[in-house]
Amino acid sequence: MTILPEQVIYMDNNATTRIAPEVLEAMTPYLTQFYGNPSSMHTFGGQIGQAINQARQEVADLLGADAGEIVFTSCGTESDSTAILSALQSYPEKNHVVTTRVEHPAVKNLCDNLEIFTGRKYHVTRLPVEADGTLDLQRYRECLKDDTAIVSAMWANNETGVLFPVEEMADIARQRGVLFHTDAVQAVGKIPINLKETAIDFLSLSGHKLHAPKGVGVLYVRKGTPFVPFMNGGHQEQGRRGGTENVASIIGLGRACRLVAEKMEEENTRVRALRDKLEEGLLGSIPKSLLNGHKTERLPNTANISFEYVEGEAILLHMNQHNICASSGSACTSGSLEPSHVLRAMGVPFTAAHGSIRFSLSIYNTEQEVDFVLATMPAIIAKLRALSPFWEDN
Ligand SMILES: *Cc1c(COP(=O)(O)O)cnc(C)c1O
Repeated sequence: MTILPEQVIYMDNNATTRIAPEVLEAMTPYLTQFYGNPSSMHTFGGQIGQAINQARQEVADLLGADAGEIVFTSCGTESDSTAILSALQSYPEKNHVVTTRVEHPAVKNLCDNLEIFTGRKYHVTRLPVEADGTLDLQRYRECLKDDTAIVSAMWANNETGVLFPVEEMADIARQRGVLFHTDAVQAVGKIPINLKETAIDFLSLSGHKLHAPKGVGVLYVRKGTPFVPFMNGGHQEQGRRGGTENVASIIGLGRACRLVAEKMEEENTRVRALRDKLEEGLLGSIPKSLLNGHKTERLPNTANISFEYVEGEAILLHMNQHNICASSGSACTSGSLEPSHVLRAMGVPFTAAHGSIRFSLSIYNTEQEVDFVLATMPAIIAKLRALSPFWEDN
C-alpha cells in the first residue's frame, strides 16, 4: 500500500523534510541539461563550477560566512566526522575530546569509537545535561584541558529542540586554545546564525533537514583553522573533499538556504505558534503528559512530550492509523525497548521516557493539521492506558 503525501499529516521534520518546490525547480536543469563535470576544461562542464560557487555563496550568506569557508559533503554525518577527525589529526599530541551526552549518533558513535577509527586512545569527556536538557557552562569550562583537541557540541538537539549556548562555548574554547565544532544540522534555517561574530571553527549542516535533498551536506571550516580532509582524491572543494560534486543537490541546497532565510520569520512566528498550540493543547487535554526540554531555550518547531505509562512505539502505531507522522524517543533495539539516550541524560523517569513522542513541524504544516492531531491524540492515549498494567486511573 502506498501512502501519498497529501494523505499524511507530516510532523516529523527533524527526521527529514520535503524538498521545497523552489528547490526542485532550481535542481532540475542540473539533472537534465547541464550534466557536465565541473572539473572539465570545456565551457560546458566548467560553467557548472560557477553554479556550484553561486550555491556556495548562498550557503555562506545564510551562515554569515565567506564562500571559501564552505565545503560541500555528502551529508551531516560526513561533516561531523570530518571536523572531529580533522582536529585529531591536526593535533596528534592532544588526546582529549569534549562532547555532550545528548549528541546525535553521528557524533556520539564516532566519539564512542575513536580508538577504532584513529588507532589511538582518546579520553572523551561527555558533559551531562540538566533535567531540562540545558548545559552547565561552569562545568564545561572546567573540563577543558591543555591536551583537549576539540569540543563537539550540537547547536540544537534533534529530539527535544533544546539549544546549547555554542557561541559562548566557542569563545571559552578559543581562550583555552581548543578547536570548537558544532553540529548545527537542526539549527540552520530555524534560528539566525552569524558565524563571523563567533569563535566557531567547524559547523555541520545537512540538506535534507532544510528542504533540500538527502545526500548533501556542508562543513563550514573557518579560514585559518587547520584542516585535514576526510575524503581524499581529486582536487574538488580546493582539495578539502575529493569526489565529483553532487551537482544538482548542491544547487538545491544553495536555493534551500536562500529559501529558509526568507522563511525564518515565518518559522519563528507562524510555525512557533502552531507548535505552541499543539504542545499546550496536548499537555492541557491529556493527563500525566509532560514536556521534555527547556520551555524557551528551544527550536520553534519541536515539541517532545511524554505520555506516562504508555509505550511510544504503540502511540506511533495508532497515530500511523490516522496517517500522522511523528517520532518516538524509544528505539526498539535487540528486542528490548531502550529509551533515548537524550531523555536518559536528562533524567526523565523510565515511565515517561518510554512514552515520549517528538512532533517536529515545518512551514508546510497548517492549523487544521494541528487541530486534527489535538482532536485525535487524547483517545489514542486513553485507549492505550486502558490496556496498560501500569496505569491506575488517578
Ligand atoms: C539528521 C542529523 C544528522 C545527520 O545528518 P545526515 O545528513 O542524515 O547524515 C546529524 N546531526 C543532527 C543533529 C541531525 O538531526
